[in-house]
Order: sequence, then structure tokens, then C-alpha cells
Amino acid sequence: MPSAPEACTAPRSCEARLPEGDCVIRLAPIQVDETLSSWLLRSAVAARCEPLTLTGVIWPGWRAWTVDLDRGLSDARLDALHRACGVDAERIRACEMRDLLRPLGASLSHAEPVWPWLAARGMRNRRNAGGQPFCPECLASDVRPYLRRAWRAAWNVGCLNHGCELLEHCCKCLAVHQPFRDTPRPVSLTSCWNCQFDHRSAIASRLDPWAAEMQARADTVLKCGTGALGSLEVATPAWFGVLQHCVRLKQPKELMVNGNPPVPIGPGLRFELLSVRERHLRLGRVASQLAQMTSQDVSCLLAGPQHPRSGEKRRSPTFRPNSGARPAGLVRQEWARLLRRMHRAYL
Ligand SMILES: [Zn+2]
Ligand SMILES: [Zn+2]
Repeated sequence: MPSAPEACTAPRSCEARLPEGDCVIRLAPIQVDETLSSWLLRSAVAARCEPLTLTGVIWPGWRAWTVDLDRGLSDARLDALHRACGVDAERIRACEMRDLLRPLGASLSHAEPVWPWLAARGMRNRRNAGGQPFCPECLASDVRPYLRRAWRAAWNVGCLNHGCELLEHCCKCLAVHQPFRDTPRPVSLTSCWNCQFDHRSAIASRLDPWAAEMQARADTVLKCGTGALGSLEVATPAWFGVLQHCVRLKQPKELMVNGNPPVPIGPGLRFELLSVRERHLRLGRVASQLAQMTSQDVSCLLAGPQHPRSGEKRRSPTFRPNSGARPAGLVRQEWARLLRRMHRAYL
């Protein structure tokens, strides 16, 4: 529980007193499907205080912005936040990605650096290797712009309302969108931390119809608990398991299994580490191929020993200096990794 003297170091505009004497921070109202980090950041901006100050009042001694807050809070930290702001704990839980991803049945441990189906931020202190995905048209139409949980689900590569691909970088300087990064400039959910370009005026590419259809199907399967694969109706975890396997395949022809187990491509970046553009392309290819698969092919995918389960670790690519030219796929993977380390978009 935050003590009154600590809370009183925050600007007066963000505090009030409960009858029992606890100091309560007034946070902004949570928007529909808003992420935890977006809510806290907006609240800090509205209160005209540093995000670090706000979280320091809620969780003294914890550097909250150095971790991926959107994953979820421990029970103790949730309780501290609930006591500090008075918002119902269940309402706060509904902001967490853990709450959204739980139906997929995958292990969601904070010890895992990458969660299945959660677009990875790749955090190092308050800097991210991966950008925060956003729809520029949604941000432009928001009265109070905020970031949606859906944008961080790795199968969501576009906005179905506006028919555009999600962006995760600045269209002017290509720096990845990092609204939570420490910067001498005022924090903002809508502008580039590097060049101050207003993301709301960005023009995103159109969303591929196949990818849009696949994304909508995935959203439906997540809600309904089951999904169709060919003529089979399977549970949500199995449906997403097949999808995860398929998006890791390099070429669409590899999905034309005809009774033979498909073979995944060699090691590379996990789907959750790929850029939105790459995920967009893969999802579109998979959608068009899944539509052509027979029930036998689907059964093979569901039962095949090559079917990797969510969260399964893959081996790192190896390169032997004297083995000749570097494979093009390996070069692309290394280039993608380098750009991530440089906080630049991989298009
Ligand atoms: Zn939109
Ligand atoms: Zn920029």
C-alpha cells in the first residue's frame, strides 16, 4: 500500500483522500480493450507527472517501465494498484495480455522471455527492440488516443475497422514506436519519440484480404472456444497450435501436405519476434493455403510429431565459416535481428 507521504510527492492533480486516510491516485478511465501500460501512461500524462513518478508512487522501489507491464501483474502488485487507484482488481486484470491469451492454453510464465502469440517488445531497460503496433486511423479517431490489447496479439496484423496494416514504426524516420521509452521530450502515445512525427497522420498499407480473414477467424476462435479446420471442429488451443505451426513454414507449398507431414523451415526468428509486415505476409499465405487443405491434411497437422507446441524453444541458427555461401534465409534473419537491436523497422 503506498503511504501518504510518498503519494503526496506526486502532483496534486492526481491525488485525493479516502475517508480511512489512504491516499488514492485518480487515474484516467480505462478505455475499451486498453492495455495496462497505455492506461498508466495516459494517466500520468493527464496528471502532468512523469510515468516513472506515477508508478513509483503505486509500487515504491519497483522499476515498472523496465518490464513488459502488459503481460500482467503479480497478485501483490495488482493489490497495490487497486489500493492506490481504487479501480476494481478484475477491471485491471482485464487490461492484461495474460487475460486475453489464457484461452490458448499456453504456459504464460514471466520467466519466459517470449510468450506465445504476444508480439514481443524485446525490452532492455525502457528501450524496446520491437515497436508497439498501432492503427494510425484508430488513434486519429480516438477522443483520447490509447493502445489496444488486440494490437499486441501476434495474429492481429491489421485493423479490421479501417482495413489497414498495423504500423509499429515511424513513417518518417523508421524508428520503432516506443511510447514508454525514456526521453527528454514529453511522453506521447501518438508521436514518434525520435522525430516527433504525429503517427495519426501516417498512411498504412492496405490489409491483405486473406490475412484479414485469418485474423478475424482467429479472433472468433479465441472467443468461441472451438474453431473449424477443414471439416474438423477443434478446441481453441489445438486450432492455434496448428496456426502457429503453419506460420513458421517458409513457403506455402510446404502446407500442401497431401498426407505427408509438413516440414518446418530452419531456425529463425519466432513469429512473435517478426515485424508486423512479415507476420502480415505469413498470415495471408497461410490463410490461402488452409482454405485448400483436405481433412486428411488437417489431421496430419494435428497429429504429426513435427507439430511444435506453443512456447516450444527452437534451436538457434548455426553457421559454419567454411561451408560456402550463407543461405539467404539466414542472412535475412540476421538482418532482422540487427534492425531489432537498432530499434529500426524491418519492412
Ligand atoms: Zn483502426
Ligand atoms: Zn520518427
